[in-house]
Amino acid sequence: MKKTRVLWLTLMSCNGNTHSFLNYPYIEQFLNDFEFIYHPIIDSDYTLEEIISQDIACDILLIEGSVADDFIKAGVPGIDIIKRYAKIVEKIVTVGTCATFGGIFRESNYKDVSGLHFQEERRTDKYNDLFEKTVSISGCPVHPEVLVSTLYAIKKGLSLKLDAYLRPKEYFSYTIHNGCTRNEYFEYKVDNHHFGELEGCMFYDHGCRGPFTHGSCNKILWNEVNSKTRAGLPCMGCTEPSFPKRNIFETKKNMGIPEFLPVGVSKRTYLTLAGITKAFTIDRLEKKLFDD
Ligand code: SF4
Ligand code: SF4
Repeated sequence: MKKTRVLWLTLMSCNGNTHSFLNYPYIEQFLNDFEFIYHPIIDSDYTLEEIISQDIACDILLIEGSVADDFIKAGVPGIDIIKRYAKIVEKIVTVGTCATFGGIFRESNYKDVSGLHFQEERRTDKYNDLFEKTVSISGCPVHPEVLVSTLYAIKKGLSLKLDAYLRPKEYFSYTIHNGCTRNEYFEYKVDNHHFGELEGCMFYDHGCRGPFTHGSCNKILWNEVNSKTRAGLPCMGCTEPSFPKRNIFETKKNMGIPEFLPVGVSKRTYLTLAGITKAFTIDRLEKKLFDD
């Protein structure tokens, strides 16, 4: 089978997505099916200077890192490289939350930092012509299996159903809460959690954003082994346009009600359920497993 030619362009980035991708367990198989015309770390056919100075044939443009008007890559504005290869490739894939929404670099001194896909209110004509070809895989970092599966879907010419942020619905139509091993603690409002412990839901006091963060971390485990919430850390909502938030280990509340509720749950429903749950204390859930 002909290898799919891929350009991995890193803009304003910590290279976390590159490192995440290198952890993909079947990377050798991937490299039998795809070839990088350029990648910042993996051996590739061309130098960045050659990529910039010529139009090299390519099927997919992968973008890692935020875009900013004044961010220069090898002497050229990053956005100019994107626009040039956007005309050549069949698809553009934003890899990670910085490339998708701007991510942590929105806090930097660069001007007008964003991802390729603007939050709705920030959408401008500037990138509109790119959206038709774009698929976004948000995450800080990107989940390697979600990225690779999406690239294979593109290679096979499958039609991807996308959400409003151009993320494949197959991986982003449910929340991190879905599949979390702590759901029973959530139901009974038990958050007696300490970081790294097996017990307790982290929604009520520890800032877990799993119930309103879209992604597949608890369905497709990281390194086929674990997820953040399973390991005892709250979900920080890294796949969403609002990432990053400050005070990530705190649940902001108004009159005792969490500021953000699970997707699709109204305040009224939440209060009704919370009222019922309050009436119960389930000893089995309140006890620490390893206490004497
Ligand atoms: S820890 Fe987070 S993801 Fe897990 S059940 Fe609680 S709120 Fe949901
Ligand atoms: S659990 Fe939440 S913060 Fe962690 S990688 Fe998944 S979406 Fe991001």
